[in-house]
Amino acid sequence: MFYRQLGKLKSENTAALCLKMPTGLTRMTKVTFMGLGNMGLPMALNLAKAGHHVRGHDIVPEALRRAAAAGLAVADDSEGALADSDTAITMLPAGADVVAAYRGKLLSAARPGTLFIDCSTIDVASANLAHSLAAAAGMRALDAPVSGGVTGATAATLTFMVGGAAEDVERARPLLEAMGRRIVHCGGPGLGQAAKICNNLILGVSMIAVCEAFVLAERLGLTHQALFDVAAVSSGQCWALTTYCPVPGPVPTSPANQDYRPGFAAALMLKDLNLGQEAAATVGADTVLGRTARDLYRAFAEGGGASRDFSAIVEAIRKGSGQ
Ligand code: NAD
Repeated sequence: MFYRQLGKLKSENTAALCLKMPTGLTRMTKVTFMGLGNMGLPMALNLAKAGHHVRGHDIVPEALRRAAAAGLAVADDSEGALADSDTAITMLPAGADVVAAYRGKLLSAARPGTLFIDCSTIDVASANLAHSLAAAAGMRALDAPVSGGVTGATAATLTFMVGGAAEDVERARPLLEAMGRRIVHCGGPGLGQAAKICNNLILGVSMIAVCEAFVLAERLGLTHQALFDVAAVSSGQCWALTTYCPVPGPVPTSPANQDYRPGFAAALMLKDLNLGQEAAATVGADTVLGRTARDLYRAFAEGGGASRDFSAIVEAIRKGSGQ
């Protein structure tokens, strides 16, 4: 195995956390982390910081270089890294990437009983397929998408929504706790992704509702601050308003105060709303507002807003109101 270590190898910390394995043996957790992008790199670094023995891998050389420069031990080939790992975590763009990676060499390179944790946000069908592929190869698997964005990934305050067997959730818990603050076991295979998709349907719809309210307030002569002061302590209160306020001023840390730099890009919100519509279609659920939010985000993304924070849709709504 070609295994490079650059920078200060926090993952080689000799005070590594030891885990009680389901077999009764106590051993250090060795983790291979695949996908060192905006989310994956800070998550892998937090695992290493907690004392776990982490090796990162990405198919893009620049991502590997960035990870090594940040102090993560990196492996040029995931198969080599997997051969002596207890756990394989994936944080990849989409369902097709996860299924392709599982169908590729990941499952065949791992030792039987390795725990595969997919933290990517993907469609429920691909998540279920990933579980089946892992089971057929003699592995354990969880789907564990996250909420909290890059800020949460960096601060280790993510929320994990986990689907899979209870004993695997317990096995994963010390790792998830090193990367997040809340771990919610949502049910069997695929139900972590189901929870993520439903949560982001609420978020997409509520952000649009908050934006519409601010634009209406502007037309009525009500200041942003006055609407915020009322709605933040009234029945209109929601995360899109009080944490992520889409107009500058009331919440100084929201992307609206930084020219809508993401944060959470509109393209990712569109992806999640599309996943919601796909899931709804498979079970015959009619999610009228989810569909409308998807259509509005699609128009916003196609109109040049894809890489802006998703709260910037307030500008499109303002234009739609003739201002
Ligand atoms: P990203 O594009 O920054 O990172 C993905 C990384 O995966 C890239 O570096 C890519 O090269 C790598 N990759 C692709 N295929 C690979 C493979 N087979 N093996 C190894 N590496 C591979 O994306 P991101 O923002 O980190 O998001 C990752 C996932 O997390 C997505 O599913 C996204 O929807 C979800 N998510 C993102 C956010 C956010 O705010 N960015 C929040 C919550 C959830």
